[in-house]
Amino acid sequence: MPPISADTPVDRAFRGTALHTPVRGEVAALTDVLILVGADGKIQSLLHADSPQRRATEADFAARGRLVSLAQGQYWLPGFVDLHVHAPQWPQLGRALERPLEEWLQANTFPLEARYADLEFAGGVYESLVDGLLANGTTTATYYASLHLPATQLLADICLRRSQRALIGRVAMDHPDQCPAYYRDASAALAEAETRAFLDYVAALPGNSAGLVKPVITPRFIPACTDDLLQRLGRLAQETGCHVQTHCSESDWEHRHVLERCQMSDTAALERFGLLSRHTILAHGNFVGDDDLGLIRAHGAGIAHCPLSNVFFSDAVFPLRRILERGVHVGLGTDIAGGASPSLLDNARQAVIASRSLESGVDAAVPREQRRRAGSRVDALTAFWLATVGGGISLDLPIGQFREGFQFDAIRIDGRAAGGNLRVEDGEPPAEVLQKIIYHAARVNIREVWVANRRVHAL
Ligand SMILES: [Zn+2]
Repeated sequence: MPPISADTPVDRAFRGTALHTPVRGEVAALTDVLILVGADGKIQSLLHADSPQRRATEADFAARGRLVSLAQGQYWLPGFVDLHVHAPQWPQLGRALERPLEEWLQANTFPLEARYADLEFAGGVYESLVDGLLANGTTTATYYASLHLPATQLLADICLRRSQRALIGRVAMDHPDQCPAYYRDASAALAEAETRAFLDYVAALPGNSAGLVKPVITPRFIPACTDDLLQRLGRLAQETGCHVQTHCSESDWEHRHVLERCQMSDTAALERFGLLSRHTILAHGNFVGDDDLGLIRAHGAGIAHCPLSNVFFSDAVFPLRRILERGVHVGLGTDIAGGASPSLLDNARQAVIASRSLESGVDAAVPREQRRRAGSRVDALTAFWLATVGGGISLDLPIGQFREGFQFDAIRIDGRAAGGNLRVEDGEPPAEVLQKIIYHAARVNIREVWVANRRVHAL
């Protein structure tokens, strides 16, 4: 846990009942708590209802107009942490999902991403994307941009201005066999130079001294990169300790492609290139084997589980529970636009459904004992943990729960919003309340979103 800063004065107090899941699969309710937050967004302390200083502290903040209180039927939840978003694919959300991955990339995705050479186009899309994700309660997003440095810089500017916690990568892809001539880095050296330039840009970004926006070294995936480029980016990762993101063993095609080209698994090859570290996020990982899991765990890397995208592109159900039980860090990703929803709640629900399908099996023509994989299910509270705490751990950031020293990134959920499906009654046990929220909350229930002590969205 990071040290609690003593030198930043408390700036604001947040009152109400907060629900979170510090322990996977278990809800913890902070009933009528007062959360004291510094101007830097850090939670300085939590005063419970019976704390001796509670009454005077609350009165003081109320008198100064620095108290934010929940109404009846409302709850604080930790903000959602999305580990895998392709920012330029926002305009094709929900389109072309019938194609296999390799066709979808060539026919739909690369032509769209190539358009981000146009900064005006990029700006319009990225404003809309950041706005949409904040409205869905995504307080931290891990973005692939495109291979255009100026548009990637623009995404960083927008996230900082809107105060979305963001990890952003300028995509590197130079392999002539897998990347079309119109959308490919001209050389490995150029891709490395522009990646370095983006790291420098974020480091010097005015107003980013607290590191709300962080750069990510982003080789698209092994098929799209030459060995030379992967080696260069691996050295850069070792040199800087920066976050790294890439795709790993997503589909049959990708998994086999890397096995044939590198004579080893995706994970083993990434390790050989120096791209596996505590700050690496591997998207998907559906086909990782036991040896791969050992490597991922040994390096402390994280997996972005993208359950909606997997339905369309992965050819298999991610064995989530087996991987969690191996002690590997896992969080959730929307994989916009491979997944058709920008909502991490939709993905949390799908994570539960996918795990239940894996457990029961899916083909009724196969005898029950042959089609099922026992011990695969996860529950809704585990899925919520993935969307919050699991994402924070995977990124090695103090986010995803209400705890001293962590950031106050939070959502005000209205359990009784007009026109919504969610209806929380007085006196319901916290685990049932949170389960209802997970299954029924929609944008209409997300009344406010806060990142680092700044209100970034309100209905
Ligand atoms: Zn992806």
